[in-house]
Amino acid sequence: MPRILILGAGFAGLWAAVGAARRLSESAQSGKKIEILVVNNRPFHSVRVRNYEQDLDPTRVPLAEVLDPIGVKWMEGVVLGIDTRLRKVPVQTRGGTELIDYTRLVVALGSKLVHPDIPGLAEHSFDVDTIEGAEKLQRHLLALPSSKHDRGRYVAVVIGAGLTGVEIASELPARLAGIAGSAQNVRVLLVDRSVKIAQAMGQAQPVIEQAMGALKVELKPGTSIKNLTDTAVELSDGEIIETPTVVWCGGMRANSLTEQFPVARDELGRLPVDACLRVQGLPDIFATGDCARILIDGTRPSVMSCQHGRPMGRYAGHNVVADLLGQALLPLHVDWYTTIVDLGPWGAVYTEGWDRKLITQGAQAKRTKRLINGQRIYPPRTGRREDILQAGAPIVQAPPPDNLPGC
Ligand SMILES: Cc1cc2nc3c(=O)[nH]c(=O)nc-3n(C[C@H](O)[C@H](O)[C@H](O)COP(=O)(O)OP(=O)(O)OC[C@H]3O[C@@H](n4cnc5c(N)ncnc54)[C@H](O)[C@@H]3O)c2cc1C
Repeated sequence: MPRILILGAGFAGLWAAVGAARRLSESAQSGKKIEILVVNNRPFHSVRVRNYEQDLDPTRVPLAEVLDPIGVKWMEGVVLGIDTRLRKVPVQTRGGTELIDYTRLVVALGSKLVHPDIPGLAEHSFDVDTIEGAEKLQRHLLALPSSKHDRGRYVAVVIGAGLTGVEIASELPARLAGIAGSAQNVRVLLVDRSVKIAQAMGQAQPVIEQAMGALKVELKPGTSIKNLTDTAVELSDGEIIETPTVVWCGGMRANSLTEQFPVARDELGRLPVDACLRVQGLPDIFATGDCARILIDGTRPSVMSCQHGRPMGRYAGHNVVADLLGQALLPLHVDWYTTIVDLGPWGAVYTEGWDRKLITQGAQAKRTKRLINGQRIYPPRTGRREDILQAGAPIVQAPPPDNLPGC
């Protein structure tokens, strides 16, 4: 039986599996049996965009809940490599290494936080890149009251003021105050080497500065870090800040397994794909999500985001089945772009367009962010086959609403 092998079950991989199952069910009359198999290193889909939040329980969606009802097989294992010549993928499972072959491959292995060679960074920093990293940070924060750190116990330094850095910096004052029992000794700093904090955020930039001021997050633009230990961080301006908590948010790069494909990758390590998500020059391989670079509106490259990863996944899934069945492939074209940044207790900020025009802010934008993080990006959780397949349709959703009524 031909096999579609999907590597990764994040926003791109999970939705590729649902999209593929949907196309297959629609093509049942073709009589062709095709196996869809997903390999992921966790038995759950991680809603990664919520890793800055304190309660991580709602961010785990068991793969069985989504994939079993639609007949998609899945296995927990770590992809070790990809042999595109022999069409085989070695996977480390609890029982040993298995060699899995494929007829068509969908690469959805996501991205990883980049760790440059800064002394002490790998050993002493925390991050919210993965759920495991976010859990480690939370355990560390909860242990602060009884830790050895007398000086700067409730000081945290966030390095990198992109979307992720801003979101975790916004959360930390309240989280630390809750753990310390008061805000008195809490200090949170947001450091970035750019001239301004959140410099790339267009009209949202001053809003973010305003929110940081209200949340008492100290901003250190134009600054980088020299080194860190488990008790302090030294900044490029010579200041040494005593802190046991440095959160690194220095940017993402495509999974290094993309290096194993015989194609030129972009500056973020992504595989070049055509409008139908097929890797250029490799007809039996599709790539999607943060592993892939598509011209999302025909001219601009996709952004590493769940905003683009989810439709890329649905289309990749649809197209990989259509390709195997000799049907027409569907090109993906997304003609809108929004950015919605969570600003903790202050609210959120919502911009539209590539130049990031301000649409809403504060409590109003927070309602949209909650809708996105709590519902819009989740697969149906009813366990009903029809609901799940319906959600996998190869369509581009409308932008998130910006006018949700208040409570
Ligand atoms: C804190 C945070 C906040 C964010 N906020 C936003 C936001 O507001 N909006 C937005 O659009 N984007 C946001 N992003 C970015 C977004 O999370 C990613 O772009 C998105 O997750 C990409 O989806 P993906 O499926 O390509 O990769 P991932 O979601 O990373 O999924 C990849 C999957 O592959 C698995 N995997 C990796 N390596 C292996 C291996 N060797 N073997 C087996 N399995 C493997 C992983 O475990 C994972 O399940 C945020 C990211 C973070 C960290």
